[in-house]
Amino acid sequence: MTKSLNVGIVGGSIAGCSAAILMRRAGHDVTVFERSTGRLRGRGGGIATPMSTFRSLVEEDVIDADFPHTIANKMPFVGHVSPDDQFGRTAWCLPVDLACFHWGTLWDNLRKRVPDGEYMNGRHVTDVKMHDSDNVILQLEDGSSHRFDLVLLADGYRSLGRRLLDPQAELSYRGYVLWRGLLPEKSMRDSHPVETKLPRLSYADLDGHLVIYFVPGFDGSTNEGERLYNWAAFIPVSDDELPEFMIDRDGLRRTGSLPPGSIRLDDENRLKQLMAANLPRYYAEIVAKTENTYVQLIYTAEVHAYARDRICLLGDAGSVVQPFTISGIFKGFNNARDLIIALDEHASVDDGLADWSETQTRRSKQILALGEQMEQAFIWKPLDFATASADTTAAWWESSVTFGESFTYEDER
Ligand SMILES: Cc1cc2nc3c(=O)[nH]c(=O)nc-3n(C[C@H](O)[C@H](O)[C@H](O)COP(=O)(O)OP(=O)(O)OC[C@H]3O[C@@H](n4cnc5c(N)ncnc54)[C@H](O)[C@@H]3O)c2cc1C
Repeated sequence: MTKSLNVGIVGGSIAGCSAAILMRRAGHDVTVFERSTGRLRGRGGGIATPMSTFRSLVEEDVIDADFPHTIANKMPFVGHVSPDDQFGRTAWCLPVDLACFHWGTLWDNLRKRVPDGEYMNGRHVTDVKMHDSDNVILQLEDGSSHRFDLVLLADGYRSLGRRLLDPQAELSYRGYVLWRGLLPEKSMRDSHPVETKLPRLSYADLDGHLVIYFVPGFDGSTNEGERLYNWAAFIPVSDDELPEFMIDRDGLRRTGSLPPGSIRLDDENRLKQLMAANLPRYYAEIVAKTENTYVQLIYTAEVHAYARDRICLLGDAGSVVQPFTISGIFKGFNNARDLIIALDEHASVDDGLADWSETQTRRSKQILALGEQMEQAFIWKPLDFATASADTTAAWWESSVTFGESFTYEDER
């Protein structure tokens, strides 16, 4: 059992706040350094997570009992049969139990559990080094430096920490993007195809697929008519096309994402036309009516160690995995929870960190393998739900997804 540690956390997003909450509760002193100056806002995207995970988070008082969310209990696999096809053909329907919500609500819930005195906004960390075997120094852009017993780098997918710990672990672009949007429910006459469902749609003539579900309205309302359609279309964009695709409305070349409202209108319209040609009319209309759509590039990165000396990687700062594995949003939470257990089980901090790093590295390899498997099924060799039988679709799902939930928070407890 380790004594109380003085812990510095770099990054105050999902992983950083999760770690701060858990480390405090385990009796450690915590300081979070977040380079953004204000509240972190969701980029407009909803999140679906297994209800079992959601309930565990409520039980552990990580999120509020009245956390606004919608429920999806069916996942229909829908194909586009003909150009005048309104709702498409459902090949098969998988029973699911998912909670759907906004990224921003999750961040707000986590952030309010970290005392203001322990969360430093507008503090950009520029370097991390070992001072001696027990002390880590964080260097900040403002010239200050801070000493800690342990530093957790939760600084996201372009992590400074990952570059320092494992310079070989480069981000690899996967050849497709996630194009996303939110549309008020009242924009459509009929909501039944999405009511308590999370349909996955194959395209008529394109790799990838689209997924759609309701999330609460911007005010948190889950009342019928007040929710938002949250859709996400996986669309191939080749390495050659990417530089042009990432030029925004102001002519700036973006890296990593095109935030809401920044995608060029000619590109947005082209993608909407692509969806009109590839989706049943109902779903194409939802996409067509959505404004301020945005894009995230899909990357992976594999790290070969999660800790070196007293420096650890958490969340997207560690390995980066394709989004299908549902592991992304609570990855940092799992990393932090395991770290506390490892520190508790070992007499020395260094032994605890070595054990923890080995477990996290092994687990991240498993998740990456799963991500690759799902990527093949969902992007590069998708099944055509317009023609596939129920048995074929069920067998395809079984063999493609062995399964994401086994890596989520609950099952790892
Ligand atoms: C503002 C924001 C909005 C997002 N919105 C959505 C959404 O709507 N839907 C969705 O599915 N996913 C969203 N994400 C997704 C996200 O990419 C991941 O799925 C998830 O948040 C991973 O959490 P993380 O804490 O590991 O990394 P991140 O969320 O990427 O957080 C990293 C944090 O570290 C901070 N940071 C980085 N470098 C430094 C440094 N040198 N010094 C100090 N601080 C540093 C960053 O400002 C950031 O707050 C969002 C992420 C962010 C940061």
